[in-house]
Amino acid sequence: MAITVSSPGTGSRPLDTEAVRALRTALRGELLTPDHAGYDGARRVWNGMVDRRPAAIAHCAETADVVAAVGFARAQGLPVAVRGGGHSAAGHAVADGALVVDLSPMNDVQVDPGARLARAGGGATWGRFDAATQAHGLATTGGAISTTGIGGLTLGGGLGYLMRSYGLACDNLAAAEVVTADGRVVEAGEGGDAELLWGLRGGGGNFGVVTRFDFRLHPVGPVLGGMLVHPAERAPEVLRFYRDVTQLAPDALSLFVALLTSPEGMPIVALIPVYNGPIEDGERVLAPIRAFGPPLADQVAVMPYTAVQSMLDAGFPSGLPVYWRSHFLNGIGDDALDTIVAAFGRIGSPLSAVLIEHLGGAVGHVDRDSSAFDHRDAEYNLAIISRWPDPAMADGCIAWTRDLWDAMQPHARGVYVNYLGVGDTPDRVRAAYGDAKYQRLAALKARYDPANVFRFNQNIPPSGDTG
Ligand SMILES: Cc1cc2nc3c(=O)[nH]c(=O)nc-3n(C[C@H](O)[C@H](O)[C@H](O)COP(=O)(O)OP(=O)(O)OC[C@H]3O[C@@H](n4cnc5c(N)ncnc54)[C@H](O)[C@@H]3O)c2cc1C
Repeated sequence: MAITVSSPGTGSRPLDTEAVRALRTALRGELLTPDHAGYDGARRVWNGMVDRRPAAIAHCAETADVVAAVGFARAQGLPVAVRGGGHSAAGHAVADGALVVDLSPMNDVQVDPGARLARAGGGATWGRFDAATQAHGLATTGGAISTTGIGGLTLGGGLGYLMRSYGLACDNLAAAEVVTADGRVVEAGEGGDAELLWGLRGGGGNFGVVTRFDFRLHPVGPVLGGMLVHPAERAPEVLRFYRDVTQLAPDALSLFVALLTSPEGMPIVALIPVYNGPIEDGERVLAPIRAFGPPLADQVAVMPYTAVQSMLDAGFPSGLPVYWRSHFLNGIGDDALDTIVAAFGRIGSPLSAVLIEHLGGAVGHVDRDSSAFDHRDAEYNLAIISRWPDPAMADGCIAWTRDLWDAMQPHARGVYVNYLGVGDTPDRVRAAYGDAKYQRLAALKARYDPANVFRFNQNIPPSGDTG
């Protein structure tokens, strides 16, 4: 059966049936075309707002599959979308009329405990990575939800509970294997291209398909962590307390705060501490935080690192529509906190939330020139995440998110590239890097992907223009 590709740029045209057959034979993984029963499920991503129809989805089981898929796309004139864990809030893992290189079968994680190194396939999730590394009592900074891909998260920077101890996920990236737009397999890092490794440390999926990530590991766990739940009426005091504690926090303490609605329908403010160090020290550091209020519920406990890494999973199911906006913040003065509290009082959906993550510690100690990731001295990261169960709520939720995002502009300094969503414009990508790093990334892009084959990402065009 002939397969037709429809894309906004090129209109409709048939795909070469022989070439499709040859790719299907070449791949160890499966090739899903629109006539295939699994196609509709495979084109879904975490953000249920995203409903795109790629030309085909190539499940890649090894590097050779990725080389074959990219070669096919080049010969057929198809753009390429790359899927790791499918968590991009903007839905970049799928695109209309593109070939999706789906790396989910490449999820193997090998650990060398002696060298404290992990070698992970480009489609592994943090759940898999943490399970493999924790089997040896080791870990590296990774995302707080176990189903997020190591790929997108690391390539954009990588915030997590261990970042104040060990830097961002990308700071722990020692080397990588990359399939480039012209089908070469290149090594980034020691023995390979050092500039490419610099670009992969925060520059996103712009330079090719990363088929292997090598991470440095650290001894981690058990940790002291969990959630302290306060009623939303106390949000003004809790947020001020949060700010004051984070100003003095040791690097071993990570502390996030979220305003959200509990599963029982009660508006709450939750402090989320994770202490990575000797438990007795953690008990001492967390004692005043646990005593404050006191909270309605104290779920802080000594737990395996893998448990802390999945404790929020249930709150982030796949498939709900999501509108997500974000700013890095210079600080959280009383006026900024009052703005957030007032907006939370007008929240349009019980599934929406406001999250503040405290950075600092090792994130700020790492040399700014060592990575494309830039905003190392931002103190906090703000995420305004709207989700809704009923399509009739969409407009109100989106407007609420935009209003709070606008109101927080005076406190903002750039943005985290991985927290850009469907509503963000290309100039926001430049804001993530600053002009100098943006131009350096554009030069690297021009070297590795001059035709911008990899453009379904937080895109840095080879020209360096923001469009
Ligand atoms: C529920 C949830 C929790 C999150 N928690 C965190 C968090 O704790 N910390 C944090 O920093 N961020 C977090 N994020 C943001 C997250 O970092 C980004 O959404 C990231 O893009 C997810 O990566 P992914 O591989 O799952 O996404 P995908 O949607 O699969 O990929 C996104 C983009 O990344 C690129 N990409 C992915 N893998 C590869 C690869 N192997 N080679 C080349 N390019 C690749 C591609 O450009 C792709 O379009 C979270 C997001 C969600 C939805």
